[in-house]
Amino acid sequence: MTPISIFWFRRDLRLEDNAALYHALKSGLQVLPIFVFDISILNQLEDKTDARVSFIHQTISTLKKELEALGTSLYVHHGTATEAFGKLLNEYSVKAVYTNHDYEPSAIARDEHITTLLGELGIPLKTYKDQCIFEKCEVTKDDGKPYTVFTPYKNKWLAKLNDFYLSSYPTENYFKNLYQTTAFTLPSLTEVGFEQSAIHFPPTTDFEHLLKDYQTNRDYPALGATTRLSVHLRFGTVSIRKLAKLAQQTSDTWLSELIWRDFYFQILYHFPHATKGAFKPQYDAIQWRNNEVEFEKWCNGQTGYPIVDAGMRELNTTGFMHNRVRMIVASFLTKHLLIDWRWGEAYFAKKLLDFDLSANNGGWQWAAGSGCDAAPYFRIFNPYEQTKKFDADLKYIRKWVPEFQQLNYQKPIVDHSMARERCLTVYKNALKTD
Ligand code: FAD
Repeated sequence: MTPISIFWFRRDLRLEDNAALYHALKSGLQVLPIFVFDISILNQLEDKTDARVSFIHQTISTLKKELEALGTSLYVHHGTATEAFGKLLNEYSVKAVYTNHDYEPSAIARDEHITTLLGELGIPLKTYKDQCIFEKCEVTKDDGKPYTVFTPYKNKWLAKLNDFYLSSYPTENYFKNLYQTTAFTLPSLTEVGFEQSAIHFPPTTDFEHLLKDYQTNRDYPALGATTRLSVHLRFGTVSIRKLAKLAQQTSDTWLSELIWRDFYFQILYHFPHATKGAFKPQYDAIQWRNNEVEFEKWCNGQTGYPIVDAGMRELNTTGFMHNRVRMIVASFLTKHLLIDWRWGEAYFAKKLLDFDLSANNGGWQWAAGSGCDAAPYFRIFNPYEQTKKFDADLKYIRKWVPEFQQLNYQKPIVDHSMARERCLTVYKNALKTD
């Protein structure tokens, strides 16, 4: 048997500028690319038309065709990663496995398991940074401790940045080292237990013209002025190095958003406790009301607060919600309704095409006030003022809530002033130090 190495695709579904793929191709062995439709993740998805699975399936199918044009193919396994490696080790003479880092606690546990399994056979699992510019301990305070406040993190991040960190990995120069084989079969979406979603995926092209006015326009949801690249960054169908380089040349504000993404990755890496409870543990003492009927109304966009309802309906229909509106609906759930931020976090995790544990957790804890660099809890968004500022001509609201301004439009489920006072009392009680 020809000795080979394996390249394992995960959150990096592209051939271009892919760190671990590059290192695998340069290693001297022929490289067999693989992908696992992992049932330990898929089985947790309740909605069998989950758009993210359609997105992955579509992307994998394209990748497979690209690889076949290069004389190799994509080995796709539907099951667990452990099973996939069990089969591969039987069928091939595997000398090394290459993959890119994933910072989520469950992925770290999976990778540790695979490292042990391969290690017992003397096969190394070689892993690389690919999905962010700086990871883990690359940007820390002078004493080596992780930053928990964004601005100093960003300043250090910018000070450290140079061309080395932005240069791409020229995988295309080494495609001749791909393992030559006839095409493998790809399990259909139905075979992996899902159906095609009707949701439309934004393209990776056609966003550069937005960057010139990004700073001015990004907060107005009706303008469609943000790039909609989040789903692509989530699954690695674009390279972060390419985007950061473009950001550096075009828009500091947009670059800052990409830095927020790195910031939350490193928060998750250093403080995994935040996935379970408040980043600032004293916020775990908040007495949430957790009214299920109100939660249902929030989920369905029927709170009687048009900007909140518009956001939730946008999410339910498209799998996307504009960032400004994400902040408004998250603040409304946690502060006006006093519903545990983890309920909102879980709902977003089900619905967002771009769902990412680190950014979602970071965003929710920011809104609830419990996060690492959160707004002070007594700053409570007023949905009416937010509307005046960011959707003054009601264009966004009318798009998603056509019955708005009609007599039968749902009355507010909670009075703003009452909810504000109630929130302040509950938070103050929880946070008071004796
Ligand atoms: P652009 O404005 O074009 O920004 C470019 C990219 O920068 C985004 O695609 C994203 O990758 C990154 N980015 C922008 N803002 C942030 C941010 N605040 N934190 C981290 N990265 C950011 N983003 C996710 O990618 N996944 C999530 O699960 C997620 N959940 C969120 C939950 C809440 C409660 C809040 C307030 C924000 C959340 N965000 C999340 C951040 C942000 O809303 C989205 O990244 C953004 O709306 C995506 O749209 P875009 O691609 O047009 O962004």
